[in-house]
Amino acid sequence: MLLNSVVLTAFLGSLAGAAPAQGPAVTCCDALSLILQEKVVQLGNKTTENEYKNTRYTYWTERSSEVTPSCFVKPSSSEDVSATLKILSQPQYRNVLSCKFAIRSGGHTPWPAAAINGGVTIDLSNMRKLEVAEDRKSIGVGAGNKWGMVYSKLEQMDLAVSGGRWGNVGVGGLLTGGGLSFFQGKRGLACDGILNHEVVLSNGTIVQANPKVNTDLYKALKGGNNNFGIVTRFDLEAFQQGKIWGGGILHAAKDPTTLSWFTNFANSSLTDLDSMVMYSTVPLFGQWMSGGLVTYAKNVTDPSSFRDFYNTSLFSTASITTYNQIAQFNAIGTPFGGRAVWATFSFKNNAAFMRTVIDLAAQESRTMPLFSPGIQLIFQPLWKAPRAKVLAETGGNSLGLDDQGDLIIVLCSSGSRRAADDMTINLAMKGFINKATQKARDAGVYSSYIYLNYAAEFQDPIAGYGESNRAQLIAVSEKYDPIQLFQKQVPGGFKLRRAEGDWV
Ligand SMILES: Cc1cc2nc3c(=O)[nH]c(=O)nc-3n(C[C@H](O)[C@H](O)[C@H](O)COP(=O)(O)OP(=O)(O)OC[C@H]3O[C@@H](n4cnc5c(N)ncnc54)[C@H](O)[C@@H]3O)c2cc1C
Repeated sequence: MLLNSVVLTAFLGSLAGAAPAQGPAVTCCDALSLILQEKVVQLGNKTTENEYKNTRYTYWTERSSEVTPSCFVKPSSSEDVSATLKILSQPQYRNVLSCKFAIRSGGHTPWPAAAINGGVTIDLSNMRKLEVAEDRKSIGVGAGNKWGMVYSKLEQMDLAVSGGRWGNVGVGGLLTGGGLSFFQGKRGLACDGILNHEVVLSNGTIVQANPKVNTDLYKALKGGNNNFGIVTRFDLEAFQQGKIWGGGILHAAKDPTTLSWFTNFANSSLTDLDSMVMYSTVPLFGQWMSGGLVTYAKNVTDPSSFRDFYNTSLFSTASITTYNQIAQFNAIGTPFGGRAVWATFSFKNNAAFMRTVIDLAAQESRTMPLFSPGIQLIFQPLWKAPRAKVLAETGGNSLGLDDQGDLIIVLCSSGSRRAADDMTINLAMKGFINKATQKARDAGVYSSYIYLNYAAEFQDPIAGYGESNRAQLIAVSEKYDPIQLFQKQVPGGFKLRRAEGDWV
């Protein structure tokens, strides 16, 4: 490493006199290879052809795997990430197409937010350290981990953290976008369980961001995604966790009792907040089926909060289990996302409006291309109850939810079989979201909040955080990234200033 840093200093010195107008004499991937050597996997290099392919095909969707970067950089430490950014931030490389870059953790965003054609993809998947603190109150998680890896380690110690419910999802994207977890009712979003971020800034400096130092960056990163730096390690609050109850539940077609059950459940003053549900509806020949994933964070069979949902079901796999087993099982069930297209919106908890959305999805699904699954919906409560606690204990996040009541997040999912249909499906989804949000306004249940981790490429979740939050995020970005590398050179993800028409 010492040798590399000497070479890096000499290399950067040699660039200092180069004239940017003539473009770079050495490509970014070559420059990165010089310093990071075998950690750079270049397109067209015969000896690393297999590794290039294997890395490319580990994205969740084909849409991301089809993207072809000039090289992958696969750092194994924060110092490697620092060396990478020191090179990519050189004036010679700014605004050079082949030096634009993507940041990838688990690669689970359905659209290519963590992939880049012709540029450099910084793939964090080799950063997999997991360090449980001696007092068992926290765990340091390298940004290349997936939730299943974190849980396998913690479960053996009867511990847990707030994280994703699918074991194959990456920690980096989920935590920088919010994070809906098994424990949301009592602990807020997964990002609210972060005690410290280790971050590499655009000039290569490695900093900590927590309630004591760089507090503005700490808050901004909780929802602000890849706009400020590359997070290389998250220290997460760990807590004691034994067995839980949970599994899948299926209902008969168009069962209306489930809707009223769900709206009561989504009311934080009526619900036992150890409960979690992902309530889904699937269009079926003009009807719809409903069901869901349910968990209860205690070792209790048939908890009362689910009784009405459970007792009227056709079929259920719910039993005493562990949160890790559920996350691993979910991962096995969804190894690849095909050509999935996701989008989302939120509304104020209301049973009648839920019905309106389900009917609209069924109607719009009829106009989708043949072989598309139509628009499937997953409704999830976003309770106001844990927010005050979180704000008091950790200084809050950047999501703009502090003043909002109980919300429902709707994940709208569709997809296609052929690349040629991607645009049609995206446009159909965009049309559905526009109609649904207009109906929400008409019904007085509109919320501007757009959950970033479910958002489509045509959406602007940062605007949904509210103008003052967005202004605050821009101020933090200008402070920690004065050259605006993460705004100008990282096109993927959700940028802080998005102009209307940035998509179609
Ligand atoms: C099967 C499946 C299950 C899911 N389950 C859940 C769930 O239970 N709860 C939930 O809330 N969401 C869930 N999601 C949504 C998920 O949170 C998002 O897709 C999330 O972005 C995935 O994180 P990732 O690291 O795998 O993504 P990536 O695609 O690798 O990254 C997503 C974005 O984050 C940025 N990013 C990633 N790592 C870093 C980093 N270290 N520093 C800075 N920026 C970074 C990337 O540049 C990109 O813009 C699920 C998604 C799928 C496909």
